[in-house]
Amino acid sequence: MNPYAAEVFTQLKNRIPWETEFLQAVEEVFISISPVLEQNPKFKSERILERIVEPERTIMFRVPWIDDRNQINVNRGFRVQFNSTLGPYKGGLRFHPSVTLGALKFLGFEQIFKNSLTGLQMGGGKGGSDFNCRGRSDMEIMRFCQSFMTELANYIGPDIDVPAGDIGVGGREIGYLYGQYKRLTHNWNGTLTGKGQEWGGSLLRPEATGYGVTYFTAEVLKRFGHDFHGKTVAMSGFGNVAWGVVQKVTELGGRVVTLSGPDGFIHDADGIVGDKVEYMLDMRLGGRDEVKMYAEKFGVPFYPGKRPWDVPCDIALPCAIQNELGLNDAKNLLKNGCKFVIEGANMPSTKEAVDFLQASKVVFAPGKAANAGGVAVSGLEMAQNHSGQKWTSEVVDEKLHAIMFNIHKICVESSEKYGHNDDYVAGANIGGFTRVAEGMIDQGVC
Ligand code: GLU
Repeated sequence: MNPYAAEVFTQLKNRIPWETEFLQAVEEVFISISPVLEQNPKFKSERILERIVEPERTIMFRVPWIDDRNQINVNRGFRVQFNSTLGPYKGGLRFHPSVTLGALKFLGFEQIFKNSLTGLQMGGGKGGSDFNCRGRSDMEIMRFCQSFMTELANYIGPDIDVPAGDIGVGGREIGYLYGQYKRLTHNWNGTLTGKGQEWGGSLLRPEATGYGVTYFTAEVLKRFGHDFHGKTVAMSGFGNVAWGVVQKVTELGGRVVTLSGPDGFIHDADGIVGDKVEYMLDMRLGGRDEVKMYAEKFGVPFYPGKRPWDVPCDIALPCAIQNELGLNDAKNLLKNGCKFVIEGANMPSTKEAVDFLQASKVVFAPGKAANAGGVAVSGLEMAQNHSGQKWTSEVVDEKLHAIMFNIHKICVESSEKYGHNDDYVAGANIGGFTRVAEGMIDQGVC
């Protein structure tokens, strides 16, 4: 690591040693951009690193709500408005018991560079709550969303901060959140993306992250002389991202053979196709947060408590949650013939796993590049809302494809420029960072 980056990283580690995921994300970026810092002393004299690791604003609030048994519950709500250099804060809301301030700082930090890579006008932010939707009724979820938005509405707006979905927040939750936002602000202005098709949502937004991951993977495969035809894909997750991935990978000739949840994973050697894809939506809305029901319904093996990384595959797409793929998983993947690991979730691989895969010549691409298609189509939803238009799915798909193609190109060119060659991590971080850092300098000390 470059000495200036090392100095800032040490200060950060001493100040917030408990924010381990945030520190992990910062360390990765700082290592990648070290050659850029060496060639551009202005980033040090402008103190860009000290500024970029500090959120512009962090909002923390109480979320009280009443459950179906008339009991009062209290959760914690957050919004981290990390960086607005490139546009209004933009990023999802995560409702999951693992949500803490540190987790959202890691996600918001990643989002800055991801959004930068899309080339659109979006700053970086993230928010959410430690609310667990498992087993909650529709009405409980609605009351929770309304209470959450009652506070959040004070801090967001179409040119200020535009939240969207993430883990635990899909179309249903966005609907409840948006309804409450309108009620409080008397304003239909599109704040929130991932809205319903009849009330301002963009076509293809629900599929966009998974489609984008697949388009990005197709570019990586092409670069190394391959395509999806006949390839076996091991994938984790069964939510927003995974659903789009299974559809597009199948369309491009590949076969996705696994799904996973907190309960374990299923292995469907025939591939997840046809009705089985629709069933993934039922599983999510069923509120059980588990994949065992897929195995029961379709008669395939279920492995309780396990992750799908020891299944033979050509390509692995971790699409569940941070740090779900560790060193031993990486070793198993290599042993079983996996040649490509492309992240569909945000930072699903541990640092040890990434180091091992890269040293073993497995092609690895980070989430901030590969999964940017979701936020990219959110950006397209904002553009449609601002102009009062609704684009066809062909138009949205073409733009999404072009954005993913371009992100891949930025990664390749940025890594080659600094002598990193096939390193997509370096390429994504350098490409994402440079645009933001230059903008921060242009905008003065603010
Ligand atoms: N939560 C998604 C992400 O991690 C999408 C964010 C958005 O659409 O604003 O990028």
